[in-house]
Amino acid sequence: MLKWGTEEQKKHWLTDISTGRKIAALALTEPGAGSDLQMMKTSYTEQGEYFLLNGKKQWITFGAVADVLLVFGKLGDKPVAFLVEKDTPGLTITPILGMLGFKASHLAILEFDNCVIPKENMIGKPGFALSYLAPYALEFGRISIAFASLGLLRGCLEICGSHVMERKAFHARLIDHGMISHFMADMGVDYEATAHLCISACRAKDEHSPEATEKIMIAKYFASRAGARHSANAVQIMGAMGCNEHFSVSRFYRDSKTMEIVEGSNQIHQIILGSSFAKKARRTLASVRTEG
Ligand SMILES: Cc1cc2nc3c(=O)[nH]c(=O)nc-3n(C[C@H](O)[C@H](O)[C@H](O)COP(=O)(O)OP(=O)(O)OC[C@H]3O[C@@H](n4cnc5c(N)ncnc54)[C@H](O)[C@@H]3O)c2cc1C
Repeated sequence: MLKWGTEEQKKHWLTDISTGRKIAALALTEPGAGSDLQMMKTSYTEQGEYFLLNGKKQWITFGAVADVLLVFGKLGDKPVAFLVEKDTPGLTITPILGMLGFKASHLAILEFDNCVIPKENMIGKPGFALSYLAPYALEFGRISIAFASLGLLRGCLEICGSHVMERKAFHARLIDHGMISHFMADMGVDYEATAHLCISACRAKDEHSPEATEKIMIAKYFASRAGARHSANAVQIMGAMGCNEHFSVSRFYRDSKTMEIVEGSNQIHQIILGSSFAKKARRTLASVRTEG
């Protein structure tokens, strides 16, 4: 909204959203369209001064509590996105319970049955939504997940660090056992590396660098994988305590898995980053050969 919203939309929503008086959610995923958003079936049909919205969205963070939802769909074959208010007639919101992690996210299923949406609620223009709006929004989502993983790694380090210095087994502190020290070393190194990648991505974004999108993806990919690996090791280090839901590392373990799926799964990051690194390497080699 800040980047592509109209003055009216900004005036109406931004202050309330940015001060937390109103909650917003972003609805892309559908039962039949997750990683492959081109499969989206939610539709908008033009009816004079307004549009009729039909379809279903799933796994929407804050969907159960949001005042306004940015709902992606198709107008003919053109991707579009409209702001939809929570009390719009025809909208049914069903909270989703029982998630592995991110339990405070108020996930929901949203069903739209002939919802009447005013023309002026469109953000951007038809054809714009999946190529500009969604990627732009995902950048913020990805850097947030990268930093959330960084926080999670720090939590693992602090909790495990103090535990291994105190806890004794076989006449020695856990830290004096080589295998435990190895876990701690890798956790600490990946924490430092994640911090550098996160900061480098933010700097690139602040400087409007053309590399910002890729750096954000690198940070999210590295951070979420490191979070999943080291939170599993943290549970191992803590023993039975790590397996109890009242101890933080068990929550870190559950949340970290979620971070490998949301905002573009690891596999989607591998596909995009793998091909980008290969293309860059080919360009570098070609330019060296030309200069040579
Ligand atoms: C806690 C949580 C919060 C969420 N919040 C939101 C939200 O606010 N808004 C929203 O719109 N969505 C949200 N989502 C949905 C999320 O964006 C999707 O779960 C994600 O995009 C993956 O889609 P999917 O679950 O349908 O998996 P699928 O797309 O069905 O993928 C299943 C598996 O196949 C893999 N895969 C897919 N394509 C390929 C390929 N080409 N090659 C190799 N492997 C592949 C994926 O990596 C994954 O491992 C949320 C999900 C969770 C768990």
